[in-house]
Amino acid sequence: MLAIKCSKCNWKLFKYHKIGSGSVIKCHKERIKQVYQLDKHSQAYSCTCGNTIGKDEGSYIKMKRFGFTYSGTKE
Ligand SMILES: [Zn+2]
Repeated sequence: MLAIKCSKCNWKLFKYHKIGSGSVIKCHKERIKQVYQLDKHSQAYSCTCGNTIGKDEGSYIKMKRFGFTYSGTKE
């Protein structure tokens, strides 16, 4: 499980069940396990500090490359 954090303010955004060792490019919504904070304005997801995290693509969030950091383990 990974903890996805905002790259700007370092707050936790959500927990994500990552499968595979590749980089985090997409976050599938069905694998988001716990949301701490996540704002949505039209199609864009952002932290409450205003930093954009990614874009809504229906079944997944297309993550913005430098919008977030993460820690934890991938499966
Ligand atoms: Zn933030």
